[in-house]
Amino acid sequence: TLSDRLASTFKGLRGKGRLSEADIDATAREIRIALLEADVALPVVKDFVAAVKERARGEEVSGALNPAQQVVKIVNEELVAILGGETRRLRYAKTPPTVIMLAGLQGAGKTTLAAKLALWLKDQGHSPMLVAADLQRPNAVTQLQVNGERAGVTVHAPEPGNGVGDPVAVARGGVEEARRTLHDVVIVDTAGRLGLDAELMQQASDIRDAVQPDEVLFVVDAMIGQDAVATAQAFLDGVGYDAVVLTKLDGDARGGAALSIAKMTGKPVMFASSGEKLTDFDLFHPDRMAGRILDMGDMLTLIEQAERTFDKEQALKAAEKLAGGKGEFTLDDFLSQMQQVRKLGSLSKIAGMIPGMSQFKDQLDNFDDREIDRIEAVINSMTPAERANPKLIDGSRRARIAKGSGRAVSDVNTLVDRFFEARKMMESMARGGGMPGMPGMPG
Ligand code: GDP
Ligand code: MG
Repeated sequence: TLSDRLASTFKGLRGKGRLSEADIDATAREIRIALLEADVALPVVKDFVAAVKERARGEEVSGALNPAQQVVKIVNEELVAILGGETRRLRYAKTPPTVIMLAGLQGAGKTTLAAKLALWLKDQGHSPMLVAADLQRPNAVTQLQVNGERAGVTVHAPEPGNGVGDPVAVARGGVEEARRTLHDVVIVDTAGRLGLDAELMQQASDIRDAVQPDEVLFVVDAMIGQDAVATAQAFLDGVGYDAVVLTKLDGDARGGAALSIAKMTGKPVMFASSGEKLTDFDLFHPDRMAGRILDMGDMLTLIEQAERTFDKEQALKAAEKLAGGKGEFTLDDFLSQMQQVRKLGSLSKIAGMIPGMSQFKDQLDNFDDREIDRIEAVINSMTPAERANPKLIDGSRRARIAKGSGRAVSDVNTLVDRFFEARKMMESMARGGGMPGMPGMPG
């Protein structure tokens, strides 16, 4: 896997201050190979590798990770960012029904997906209706009816024996029917052909114009690899869509299509379909897909562990100092703890998640990132002696520190007070065996 190959590229490099140009080139080569093996389109690979090289050049090798882990971490973060960062949620119409239209090639998995999505929505308390607007294939309507029945949802289909049938009229009729019968979501299944086809593209855009969908989802088979980009682009130009659904992820495709499409079209992947069963379906998770594309799930777990252990070691060191009983907790320690906490995210959010900490939530609500910046500015204006021995910081020193950091004297006062409070708390924790219910805090 990529992780293994990077690890051997970097053998023996632990502790270097920065990655060398040669290390970065070697890394770039490995990432390139791994992406191509995962079937990512070449232009995407080129861009991606360039971005990772750029970032790797700028970064210090951290204390927590070895160089291979650090590069994998960068690669992972960049992948997740391209794949859409956060999971994209469905947008519901202000006035129901919400209309979702599916588009894609024949065999992509639209009809299967229609039923999966309907079941998923139903499980969340919605009342979806399926509309069979694929009148191209003889058995397409029946297939949707059968799937709809399995999912336990209503299917709107054209009256049998009405000649050829007009898919646009069926789609429009379906949405009207849903409005009348108070279904709050309508999923319109459409026809596709085996290849890109102007006539069918026109039909899909006519349906789109007729039903004015809130979401058009482009459904694509993850197994088609490199072809996915051309198909995705053609549907974007011919029909337009808001998000992508990847199907057949239960196969051995590594998911390069997801990366190529997301990067080339700028559209997020919203759902992932992974099997024949109606429940083989989930929201798309960029982080999981990133791990799959580069086959680096194990490495990511190791990285998380290494970082957690490192942070814990730092915290332990601070606590050990105090346990020594000399009250050595300094403003430098205070600052480095703030910075550690910032890495974890918003303090009040974290406090809300930790049992026993919610009592501090109000205090912490006022304690955001910018506040840490301010604290940092103030502490940086102190002399090393002041930081090591905060008792030195008298009135005239406070005035000087305030001036040097561009803050008010009251800010310096607040910070110093806070520091002494924190020190008191740390000392009692060091004596008393930890803070109740706070996992990860040394006791
Ligand atoms: P459509 O032509 O786009 O409507 O595609 P269908 O829904 O008819 O699916 C085409 C074929 O792919 C059918 O045999 C489905 O059972 C199969 N299929 C659809 N989704 C998946 C999936 O996520 N995994 C697997 N293994 N097969 C799928
Ligand atoms: Mg179909």
